[in-house]
Amino acid sequence: ELENVDLVIVGAGLFGLTVAQQAVEHAGARVLILESRDHIGGNAYSYIDKETGAEIHKYGAHLFHTSSPVVWEYVNRFTKFTNYVHRVYTTHRGEVFPLPINLGTINQFFHAHYTPQEAEALIREQAGELASSDPQNLNDKGISLIGRPLYEAFIKNYTGKQWQTDPAELPAGIINRLPVRFNYDNRYFKDTWEGLPEDGYTTWFERMIDDPRIDVRLNTDFFDTTQPLNRDAIVGKVPVVYTGPVDRYFDYSLGELKWRTVDFEEVRYDEADHLGCPVMNFADADVPYTRAIEFKNFNPERRAQQNANKTVVWREYSRTAERGDEPYYPVNTQTDKDLYARYADSAAQQPSVVFGGRLGTYKYYDMHQVIATALNAYEHDIASLLGANEERQ
Ligand code: FAD
Ligand code: UDP
Repeated sequence: ELENVDLVIVGAGLFGLTVAQQAVEHAGARVLILESRDHIGGNAYSYIDKETGAEIHKYGAHLFHTSSPVVWEYVNRFTKFTNYVHRVYTTHRGEVFPLPINLGTINQFFHAHYTPQEAEALIREQAGELASSDPQNLNDKGISLIGRPLYEAFIKNYTGKQWQTDPAELPAGIINRLPVRFNYDNRYFKDTWEGLPEDGYTTWFERMIDDPRIDVRLNTDFFDTTQPLNRDAIVGKVPVVYTGPVDRYFDYSLGELKWRTVDFEEVRYDEADHLGCPVMNFADADVPYTRAIEFKNFNPERRAQQNANKTVVWREYSRTAERGDEPYYPVNTQTDKDLYARYADSAAQQPSVVFGGRLGTYKYYDMHQVIATALNAYEHDIASLLGANEERQ
């Protein structure tokens, strides 16, 4: 079966799809994609809910944003984007505040009318001795950014629920993603471009691989030796791009990397709109879920196709992933980073296997970063493997 295949890709997520598209476009390669799930798109997959007409992001809310002209141009070859702008609110002690923490949040919290300068001075004072340091962990970073009172209200418990790891053990980088602003700008992302795919995520992904040279086998696990297209039958014969968990590839021989997973609880309402926004965070420890997502509200431009009397909300519960759970977010403590470095060494010794994507490189990547790294990996590592393979034949 491998005779007519130039490249095997394990995983039909954005990394795998981007590499497949590039291999066909630049090398005319014949690509076989193996995917253990029953659909393409990886964690960015979505489907339309019959009752409400909402586009449900099956593995949690996905918002596309990027500042890279290369990535923006690339994705626009396959889909148009809506003018959706991401905004998030948070509930704390029975009150709703805007996020990311901005002058509106600060003034509401302190019942004040500070100017940007006054607010900055106040926060600097509250950040105390950490204000001018370069904190390495999330706890100190949070306090240095917004001061202790706001940190304890909006970050501490939310992060505790989400990561179930002491914030003092978590890398500061996690909340670099969450800026603080001394004006009323409450756009969640700072990127140049953002939006949602006009015809949905899955249509976008189908267009990326709409070519007869790309063959996708769903429900096919690369490690399942009872099916013919497994690791032992493939590695060494055809170049492989592997986007599953890196520790799984090496049979967990050095130990297991830690991941966080998310469970979703679906709640349906006989209402047009339940939250009044797409995403509501819950900052306090007494609400067990971190956030609630109302998918209809991501696509207000589709009101005519949506049910005006019903809506669906997903509540997100976060916990440590066990083996067999979906690994969603790398926990990335120092122990994990050291372990990953050892797996990365082993990966580098596999001459015909390229490891990529969130799972394959144990990185907290957003979609645009996965696409950028896939374009790069194609150009720098995969193109030459395809060339070498051609010469052999
Ligand atoms: P994945 O999408 O995980 O794809 C890997 C694929 O490999 C999967 O389909 C898996 O089934 C398959 N696979 C694994 N092992 C095997 C095997 N042994 N055999 C066959 N197939 C296998 N990004 C954003 O830009 N914006 C967001 O708002 C955003 N929100 C997110 C929210 C959540 C809850 C999560 C989990 C992620 C979010 N992301 C977001 C990140 C985004 O999902 C990733 O950046 C992107 O989907 C990763 O693509 P990937 O190809 O690396 O991995
Ligand atoms: N965060 C927080 N309170 C919030 C929202 C975010 O403390 O209301 C912190 C939390 O540690 C989280 C990080 O900021 O892990 C990044 O948040 P974001 O919503 O960007 O992450 P996502 O979970 O969507 O990847």
